[in-house]
Amino acid sequence: MPKTAIITGGSRGIGAATCQRLAEQGYNVVVNYLNNQSAANQVCQQIKALGGQAMIVQADVAREAEVARLFDTAQQQFGAITHLVNNVGILFEKTDLSHISAERFMKVLNANVLSAFLCTKAFVKLCANGGAIVNVSSAAARSGAPFEYLDYAASKGAMDALTKGMSLELAAKNIRVNSVRPGFIETDIHADGGEPERVKRLSPQIPLQRGGTPEEVANAIAWLLSDEASYVTGSFIDIAGGK
Ligand code: NAP
Repeated sequence: MPKTAIITGGSRGIGAATCQRLAEQGYNVVVNYLNNQSAANQVCQQIKALGGQAMIVQADVAREAEVARLFDTAQQQFGAITHLVNNVGILFEKTDLSHISAERFMKVLNANVLSAFLCTKAFVKLCANGGAIVNVSSAAARSGAPFEYLDYAASKGAMDALTKGMSLELAAKNIRVNSVRPGFIETDIHADGGEPERVKRLSPQIPLQRGGTPEEVANAIAWLLSDEASYVTGSFIDIAGGK
């Protein structure tokens, strides 16, 4: 049976590396993005150039109607959707709690947690023969990210609870749900937080003395989705260089 994976936020960083890795493994790949069509197109073209199958779908996965359109479009192109990576995550400028507005807090929760909930619901509705989901959480769920992004850390804590609950609720349907919790990974998300060189600055505090690459996270995601992980559900892999 063909394997088709939807990767939310697949146009850059960890999502883009995951799209590439899954395409190499023979998946049909659905590259979801929000704003940057040219980056999404580039991921798609790179996959096609290597003989893989891919499509791009613009959709804000924090909105239920757009999630429904994402899944419909993907299904029309590739048939059954068998795998899902809830990868989208956003953060805003680093600051302490007194400067985080209620509006910002809700934006982060909607993009980071509601999106995973909505996509998982859509996936379960379409997925009659079992499947696998990976939720992309963060080491921030453990650290709490004080004075930086309490809102982001709270969203990732919620993501961990979702992973646990979904894995138990969906096990009898043969849908496995697991999570990766990256630490400091070299992507553009740190520029959004106001410090593009953040990973370099913090590298000396990481036991392995360096930041991780998107590909190192993608490898773990691909393994959790694969049949090699067929007895793994409700599990969390920390990919944080020992931190
Ligand atoms: P990134 O480089 O900032 O990429 C974010 C992706 O999400 C982009 O493709 C963006 O699309 C898309 N996106 C954002 N909001 C969206 C929405 N509402 N609907 C659809 N797509 C949306 O992020 P990253 O660093 O690779 O992080 C990926 C995941 O890993 C996130 O969940 C993040 O929290 C987690 N993580 C990252 C690190 C790290 O150090 N990088 C550490 C721990 C956890 P457009 O560009 O088109 O807007």
